[in-house]
Amino acid sequence: MENSNENIKFGICPECKVRYNDSSEKKLYQCPYCKGWFCEKHVEPKLVITWSAIERTRDRILKEKLYEEWRKEGHHPCSIWTMQYFESLEIKEKEEREKFLKALDNIEKRKKSNQYSKSLEVSKRKISPKDVAIILMLILLIYFIAVRNITISIFILLVLALIAVIFR
Ligand SMILES: [Zn+2]
Ligand SMILES: [Zn+2]
Repeated sequence: MENSNENIKFGICPECKVRYNDSSEKKLYQCPYCKGWFCEKHVEPKLVITWSAIERTRDRILKEKLYEEWRKEGHHPCSIWTMQYFESLEIKEKEEREKFLKALDNIEKRKKSNQYSKSLEVSKRKISPKDVAIILMLILLIYFIAVRNITISIFILLVLALIAVIFR
């Protein structure tokens, strides 16, 4: 904090008054952000943020940073400084987000090409040996049921069940 004469005057520190009911006149310094006047204990800015807002922060690193700010002794809650703090944070986060999105985009592209080759595989084996066997067996089954040969019909049913199990 600069201690040039312009930035010093005598008066009541609003933070001291609110927090300690201390209305004594002190040397006051001007906050370069909100332009408010505070004693030397309170002139440094801190975040205007509620405990519950910190609790809701999902980013673990940011949360830790905010707790640190919250625990600061002295200082004054400074809305202008808070805005600047979050703006600079947002810029950093935006960069992070863009990096993240780029990585995500790459993953998606890889996934899509995988899906494409998979669907190619599927279409290549559209008529599998299993399908052919089952259709043949069904035709035989219908034939032997039609000619009322129960033994062979049951045998074919068993083969069908086997095919279903083996080629699953
Ligand atoms: Zn004070
Ligand atoms: Zn301030």
